[in-house]
Amino acid sequence: MEKGLISVDEWREGSQAYFLTHLHADHIKGLSSTWAKAPIFCSRITAKLFPFKFPNFNLSLLHVLDLGSWHSLSLLSPSSASEVTVQVMAIDAHHCPGAVMFLFRGESGCTLNTGDFRWEINSERAKLGREMLLNALQHDKVDALYLDNTYCNPSYQFPPREVAAQQIVDLITSHPDHDIVIGINTLGKEDLLLHISKALNIKIWVWPERLQTMHLLGYHDIFTTDTSLTRVRAIPRYSFSINTLEGLNTMHPTIGIIPSGLPWIAKPLERDGRLFDSLLTSRYNRSKVSSRGGKKNDKTHGNLGSVERFHKYIYSVQYSDHSSYPELEEFIKLVQPTNMKGIVTTSPCYVDPLYYFGRICGINQPSQKLHRQHQMFGKGYIGIENKRKRVDRLGFHSIRERVIRRTVRGVKLDEYDGSD
Ligand SMILES: [Zn+2]
Repeated sequence: MEKGLISVDEWREGSQAYFLTHLHADHIKGLSSTWAKAPIFCSRITAKLFPFKFPNFNLSLLHVLDLGSWHSLSLLSPSSASEVTVQVMAIDAHHCPGAVMFLFRGESGCTLNTGDFRWEINSERAKLGREMLLNALQHDKVDALYLDNTYCNPSYQFPPREVAAQQIVDLITSHPDHDIVIGINTLGKEDLLLHISKALNIKIWVWPERLQTMHLLGYHDIFTTDTSLTRVRAIPRYSFSINTLEGLNTMHPTIGIIPSGLPWIAKPLERDGRLFDSLLTSRYNRSKVSSRGGKKNDKTHGNLGSVERFHKYIYSVQYSDHSSYPELEEFIKLVQPTNMKGIVTTSPCYVDPLYYFGRICGINQPSQKLHRQHQMFGKGYIGIENKRKRVDRLGFHSIRERVIRRTVRGVKLDEYDGSD
């Protein structure tokens, strides 16, 4: 597809139509309430949440794409000035509320941008997404795939969210006299909180802005801002720290839970002791800890052990809104793209998905850390997200340092969204 036509989650000047996969902070960098460059296309739920994120935005620029339907756009070729027709379909990405993939079809072929996505092979919702995608593709090949390569490494294997959610419920019920705090972002993990609420028949505390988001999403009775009504509180991830948990424990026994696909370990306290300083570690070296505190290697039902106690008050559970490595592999086998590129691109040790998946599609395997531009992916082809720096230890560390600098400056910290 020609440069200057469309951009996905990329907000620089120079395109005629812009596409927003979802509202996590690393996908809206550069977008503001004063945006006036061109129309933005997104899902209905994203459009509903959009004014909350961008007050006073000119909503006439926002266009809703219903899932599973082709929409035609007439654009102008920058090189020939002739009319170009691009068709686009939004497909459920199963990531956070409103998140979609975009499938584009035009004279120059077929392009799929997954945005952030979870491809849970056995979940009903993923099956619908799979059918939608296969129906849309028919006999077309995906010529260019932009892939959520957040966990594009064989070491990233974790259970389906339903399993991880139950592990969190078990963890909570095994601490009947404790208060519970769960670190979440400004969007995402709603299904987890609903699961907990339903399983334990309790309300969940959220902070006031998050309650507004919950109401916008249609959840009116489950969440509360009244701390006296529940012992389970979902708190902003940026305020979830060792210091916070230690402080809470001086008043009442409390455990903290981080739902994330990332394995965590706590480094010795540095700076203000926030967990932003935690480092990645190989899951294979971690001991598995059951919800009752004993070690276990949970392979029941084929599930991977994914509960880890890495601090006396803190557990991480591998509840992820991104695809695990085996899910990515399954997705690539299904889509069989002619070429592909990861959307997490800014890390100095960016993992090229071709390194692991090229063989599946008959593409030559590059060396892992190669930053070469493939022929299909010339500069400005379709906006590549300037995203998270967290595909490896170096990247993980650097984004946290950036966040800490913002803390010091007193800037509101919602930039950390969407990294799990
Ligand atoms: Zn995201």
